[in-house]
Parts: sequence; structure tokens; C-alpha cells
Amino acid sequence: MTSKEIREAFLTFFKSKSHQIVPSAPVVVKNDPTLMFTNAGMNQFKELFLGEAQPKYARVADTQRCLRVSGKHNDLEEVGIDTYHHTLFEMLGNWSFGDYFKKEAISWAWELLTAVYGLDKDRLYVTIFEGDESEGLPKDVEARDFWKDLIAEDRILLGNKKDNFWEMGETGPCGPCSEIHYDMRPDEERRQTPGQALVNADHPQVIEIWNLVFMQFNRLKSGKLEPLPAKHVDTGMGFERLVRAIQGKTSNYDTDVFQPTIQFIAERSGIAYGADEKTDIAMRVLSDHIRAVSFAIADGQLPSNNKAGYVIRRILRRAVRYAYTFLDFKNPFIHELVPLLAKQFEGVFDGLAQQQSFVQKVILEEEVSFLRTLTTGIQRFENYAIDHADVDGEFAFELFDTYGFPIDLTELLAREKGLKVDMEGFQGALQKQKERSRAATAIDTGDWVVVAPEEDEETAFVGYDYLEASTRLV
Ligand code: ATP
Ligand code: MG
Ligand code: MG
Ligand code: MG
Repeated sequence: MTSKEIREAFLTFFKSKSHQIVPSAPVVVKNDPTLMFTNAGMNQFKELFLGEAQPKYARVADTQRCLRVSGKHNDLEEVGIDTYHHTLFEMLGNWSFGDYFKKEAISWAWELLTAVYGLDKDRLYVTIFEGDESEGLPKDVEARDFWKDLIAEDRILLGNKKDNFWEMGETGPCGPCSEIHYDMRPDEERRQTPGQALVNADHPQVIEIWNLVFMQFNRLKSGKLEPLPAKHVDTGMGFERLVRAIQGKTSNYDTDVFQPTIQFIAERSGIAYGADEKTDIAMRVLSDHIRAVSFAIADGQLPSNNKAGYVIRRILRRAVRYAYTFLDFKNPFIHELVPLLAKQFEGVFDGLAQQQSFVQKVILEEEVSFLRTLTTGIQRFENYAIDHADVDGEFAFELFDTYGFPIDLTELLAREKGLKVDMEGFQGALQKQKERSRAATAIDTGDWVVVAPEEDEETAFVGYDYLEASTRLV
């Protein structure tokens, strides 16, 4: 099955179970102070779960574009390094608003995965909530009993509150969840070590595919749980992971979701995908980040210097740095990937094709300006290298702070000239900067300062770069 067919089969399946297929919400969230970007399929239904709005349909399904690059779910640092976390991904979901509950959600999930998609039953594992006495949360015996009719008992695993209990916030709707995992290791390896111990253990071949959340309680301010009058189902399945499982690949990037983009990058860089770990990571980062940046722009969030805009700018700059450092793209290149994506998402998320030239133009401008900064920084480095035997920490920090050089890039340049970088000095300078900015924030929040909107737009929000500085490019 192609990825297009897999997506269609999901929607057709739930349509046949009387679900209304609804469009994805934009990935950019404009009127929720608690959320910058849509990070799960359920976001657009939040008011329904809180009882603040009435559902139009009792059963809906969709594919939602999600972005997990800030806040509670931030997967950015994993992206490209691992093969199953993306910045932007599609979450396939089905919902019941006070209609069906655990039995149907579980049996339909099983039917879809095994009968429609033909996934191997011997590779599937499910988890159910084990309960938490200290919080008065019961074990989810109902979910376990429904699963028992479908799957061998030793494949039903108990999960803790972190993985198997969902809460919207400190108060409000919450409930146990049941996750479905797929073991994609070769037969031989599976015979030697059973998959049970590898579920939820960050194993790159034993991965979570689908999460079924059963909202059945309401948590009160006192911490007490009361049963919800109407129970809901909220599910989310990672589309790219599902495609990988069905297509039998060992990486999401080997599926037809990412390969067209990766092959294009390989062709243009003259480097084959698979030739080297570092260039592979760079190609994965590019093929992933272009999706996040393109959809954010198409959905109305331009790169800028603060808040959501800065998150997008940072993702784009991260892509530029990988392209520049490891794939030798010294001229703007990333914007050329947009038409490929627009074509790929035709009939799914049409907004990108409609705004293709605008999105490309914005990305090109960002690339030009960031590459200029990088080039100036490299010039600065060349001059420095003439009369310095090594790179001191303060200078490495200047490159980082003023020219946006991750420490890897500085090390790479230094290595080419046979210089060593004073890493301790760099970390020290970074630490000092962090303390300075923390102190500055402390003063800010202690004052009542009215900031004019234009001024606010111009204020560089530097927090995220400092978070990234301590981590490495690869
Ligand atoms: P993981 O444990 O792998 O980080 P999760 O438990 O954080 O996933 P959920 O919040 O349960 O994920 O989201 C539902 C589904 O969305 C997951 O089962 C997974 O298939 C998919 N998913 C979650 N995060 C990502 C991501 N960053 N990239 C691609 N798919 C993802
Ligand atoms: Mg996660
Ligand atoms: Mg998980
Ligand atoms: Mg999960």
C-alpha cells in the first residue's frame, strides 16, 4: 500500500463505522494562551471535552497535522537522530463524544490494523493502565478484558501513569489510555529476545503506533475524581509510523512519505542517502524540517523574532545549518523542496499548494539572510585563525551568540585549521549568559511595563537558542 492509500483506508474504515470525516485544524494555534501549535488531534475538540461546546457529530475521524517542537511535547532534538519522531507529523484519529467507548475503540483498532492493513499479530503489543493507588486511580480491567478477546494475554502489558494515563491539565477530563506498539525487529532477533521488555523503552524498532484514550473521569480542584456523565474516546495514531510498519521499513524516512524529498536532496547534494551517518542525519533533518516550516507558514505563522515565529525561525535555521555544514549547500536550497511537498499533500492539506509561491519566497528570504550571517561569521573566524593558535571559549561564544554558530560548526572549522576549541571556556561563557538573561527576566516580571505591540514584535526572544546551545548539532 502507498502512504496515500493507507491514509484513505483509515478514513474509509471509520466512515464505514458511521464517523463524520472532518478537516484538520491549522497547525498554528492563535487563540489559546496554553498552546502555540497543534500537538494532538484532540486539540480542536478541547471545548467539547470541557463541556464548553456541544458536538455536532457523536463520532468523527480525521488526519490532523501536528507540530511537537515546544511546550509539553518537544521532540525537536530527537528529530533526524532517531527515525520515528518528527517535528510535523500527521495524527490519524477517531473520536467518540459521549457515544461508543472502550469495547468499540479497541476492537475497531484491532480490526483496522490486522484485517485491513494486515499487520502481523505476532508483532503487536498493547498496554493498559496499571492503576495508581496513591492517587486513587483504578487499574483499567475493562480495557484488559476487551483486549483479552483479541490478543494473547502475555502481549497485554501494564503501563504506569506517565505512559498510560491522560490528563488535560491539573483539573478537568482525564482517564486511562491503551497504547498499541509494533515490533519491527527481524524474526531471528525476536526469537532470541521477546519484545515485551522493549515496549516503551526507546528501542528504535519497537515503537508506539496508536494511543487510545478513554476519558471517563473529571478531576476536581480538590484532586478528587468523579465519573464523567458522558464518556469519550480520543485516539491518535502516528501516520508516518503506521506507513513504516505496513511498508516493512526500519525507518520512517525509508517510506514513500519521505523518500521523494530525500532522493531530491541526495541528487542535488551529490551525496547518496546511506553513504554516511552524518550526511544521512542532515538529509533526514532537512526532509523533516521543511514540512514543519512550510505548513507553519501556510497556516499563518511567519518566521520572526519572538514566540511562535521564533520557534519556526529556529527550526528553519537548524535545517540551514545542517545543509550548510554537512551537505555543503552554501547557497539557498531548502525552499526548493516546497513544490515537492505541495504536490505530495494535494487532496490532503491543500493549503500548501495554494500558497506555494508565498511559502517558497518566505523561506528563500530567511535562507538568504541566515546564510549571510553564517558567512560573515566564517569570515570572522578566518581572520581570528590567522593569529590564534587555538579557539578560546569567549570567541566560540561570540560565534554562537552573534552569528548563530552551533558549537559543532565552530569545532568543524577549527579542526580544518588544526585548532582546538576551549569547550570549558565556551560552556562557562554560555552559563554566564544564561544567568544574565535569567536575571534580566526576573527584573522584567517584577515591573509593570506596558510594551507596545510593535516594540514587542522587535524584541528578540533568545531563550530557545540557549537551550539548544548545550546540545550538539549531531
Ligand atoms: P512517543 O512515546 O513515541 O514519544 P507519545 O506517547 O508522546 O509518543 P502520543 O502523545 O500518545 O505520543 O501521540 C499519539 C501518537 O502519535 C503516538 O502513538 C505516535 O504514533 C505518534 N507520535 C507522537 N509523537 C510523534 C512524533 N514526534 N513524530 C511522529 N509521530 C509521533
Ligand atoms: Mg512523545
Ligand atoms: Mg509514548
Ligand atoms: Mg502515547
